[in-house]
Amino acid sequence: MQGYILHTQSVKDEDLIVYLLSPKKVIKSYRFYGMRHSNILSGYKIDFELEESTRFLPRLKDVLHVGFSWTLDREKMFFWQEFIRLFYWHLKEVETVDSFYFELLEECARRFEKQDCKRVIVDAYLKLLSFEGRLHQIFTCFVCDESIQEDVVLVRAFLPAHRKCAFGYEFKAKDLSYFYNNFNSSHFSDEYIDNLYKIIKEGF
Ligand SMILES: [Zn+2]
Repeated sequence: MQGYILHTQSVKDEDLIVYLLSPKKVIKSYRFYGMRHSNILSGYKIDFELEESTRFLPRLKDVLHVGFSWTLDREKMFFWQEFIRLFYWHLKEVETVDSFYFELLEECARRFEKQDCKRVIVDAYLKLLSFEGRLHQIFTCFVCDESIQEDVVLVRAFLPAHRKCAFGYEFKAKDLSYFYNNFNSSHFSDEYIDNLYKIIKEGF
């Protein structure tokens, strides 16, 4: 089975509780410390086996790290682990998931190879909002419920507001519409991508 390590939590001595995202499930497993243990780091893609236990969490075993071409790039790994942390907080209470989430990570891992990490994450987050039916394509202010004409302020989860109604990063309505319709952020300058990225970091 393959999965992404979403989170690890140390328990007594050197054992770990490991949260994994597989194509169909979020798995909470137990990893015993062993002499020949392979690296278990959040964000890693692994090949693994589970040994079911009737009394406790399934045991994670036969772990094999499936590396990315950019695994040793510290900056990319930093962005990746931040992204994975957001995934963990978003999915930690869930057991069964649509394969959309696993496939989204697969796509991002591929795109990380050649593209700017923040842009990859911004594009991926838009897909996630759209998939979950949470993307506000019509700009109605979440504070006053009136329509927004030109300057859209976005807050957490890309909720739109008027400049006078909420504090957040500002975007032109037409730029956002293009982004939302084409799932492509290439028309945004790095500064705007930075701002979108900061909103994402507030949480999915
Ligand atoms: Zn308003």
